Amino acid sequence: MKTLHQEESQNTYGLRREMLTNSIHEECGVFGIFHPETDSAAPEVYYGLCALQHRGQESCGIATCDTNGPQGNICHYKDMGLVGEVFHPSVLDTLKGNVGIGHVRYSTTGASTAENAQPLVLNYLKGTLALAHNGNITNADEIRQALQENGAIFHSTTDSEVIACHIARERTHTASVEDAIFRTAQRLKGGYALVIMSPRKLIGVRDSLGLKPLCLGKRDSSYILASESCALTAVNAEFIRDIEPGEIITITKDGVRSDRRLVNETRAHCIFEYIYFARLDSTIDGVNVYDARFRAGKALAASYPVEADLVTGVPDSGLAAAMGYAEASNLPFALAFHKNSYVGRTFIKPTQKERESAVHLKLSVLTSVVKNKRIILVDDSIVRGTTIAGLIRMLKEAGAKEVHVRISSPPFLYPCYYGTDVPSNEQLIASSLTAEEIRANIKADSLGYMRIEDFHHMTGGLPLCKACFDNHYPV
Ligand code: SF4
Repeated sequence: MKTLHQEESQNTYGLRREMLTNSIHEECGVFGIFHPETDSAAPEVYYGLCALQHRGQESCGIATCDTNGPQGNICHYKDMGLVGEVFHPSVLDTLKGNVGIGHVRYSTTGASTAENAQPLVLNYLKGTLALAHNGNITNADEIRQALQENGAIFHSTTDSEVIACHIARERTHTASVEDAIFRTAQRLKGGYALVIMSPRKLIGVRDSLGLKPLCLGKRDSSYILASESCALTAVNAEFIRDIEPGEIITITKDGVRSDRRLVNETRAHCIFEYIYFARLDSTIDGVNVYDARFRAGKALAASYPVEADLVTGVPDSGLAAAMGYAEASNLPFALAFHKNSYVGRTFIKPTQKERESAVHLKLSVLTSVVKNKRIILVDDSIVRGTTIAGLIRMLKEAGAKEVHVRISSPPFLYPCYYGTDVPSNEQLIASSLTAEEIRANIKADSLGYMRIEDFHHMTGGLPLCKACFDNHYPV
């Protein structure tokens, strides 16, 4: 029998997922810390995961161990829900040790269940291993089958378990866990950032194209690995550098070692990190996310100017681009919406009708700002078109004379195979309608999408994956 708390959690979780399905999602965020001198890794992992919560809101987990304690003793806890909901102080108290890794998840590969939450913890012939993974392995089925033919049994449906199992297999005939990880990374295709904890080591790995982000930070004698630099700030650590694509970095009590045998010149950083996923205060591969979005807004203003009274953005991911658009077009920027950050917790048992009006609960219009104004509304993307159509309707009902929509990414047309949840083609409005048809459908006065050739304004000369816009897949 479910307790009232469990029922409430499931309902709020269901609503959260329902609301999430109108947008694009990153699958996960990872974090790891090696504290040589204290035994309190878990609270630091908690703070790091809170800073990475935007990368996954379905489940989360922390695994810790003590490098000075009995070898192989890994404590862990994971569950469905947000970091603040899952990790009460009493839970954190049970996670002992000076090394810890953590994970936040939004599922696309594997079912959305507590069993598929991470970190994965593995007991195998050579000891224990915990692994947290962001991304998607495109040849996971092939590797899984080869492992199963050799007797492996899988407990989850995730590609992360395939990676962990492959490492464990390789470890039976390699001199170190790093060598086993190297041999596994040689086989993996796709986008991935891994943080792995063996009883004496914290190890980070990044795919050789750099599709998924991973960076290194330091605070006193502690080293930190994180999906984004905002998580380093959250634990008061200094950003050292991005992990190089293809690099395997090992942190022990003796310091940091780097294995660059898989590093090559080819790069394809995910443009979507800059458009939408990453937090505004993060810097990834040398490009600050706020600056990239601001420059995207400026490029949009140059491509699609229009006469208007003010520029506004959809909170939160459209705001920086809206500010860039306003500056480049010499128009005032104003907030047109108030965002209710607590809406996810307001329902206990939402009905379908209540779910449909979720956008009204999440955002309300500042009528005095928009009344009788010609408005340029900037957002980062259009997926189904229902959210932006609802916002345009709200602005017009509040008295806006015109609403011109500007989107700081090109139309989505193709799926992502590297760990981003882009809905299937039938659900992408741009795959069946032209820009003019979308404009008419959402009832905007004009519509302009960022051009693919303008990406270089956002990220300078950074080599990019932009396959979901141009169908050119790097793997
Ligand atoms: S296909 Fe799109 S979302 Fe996927 S990695 Fe490439 S740019 Fe990012």
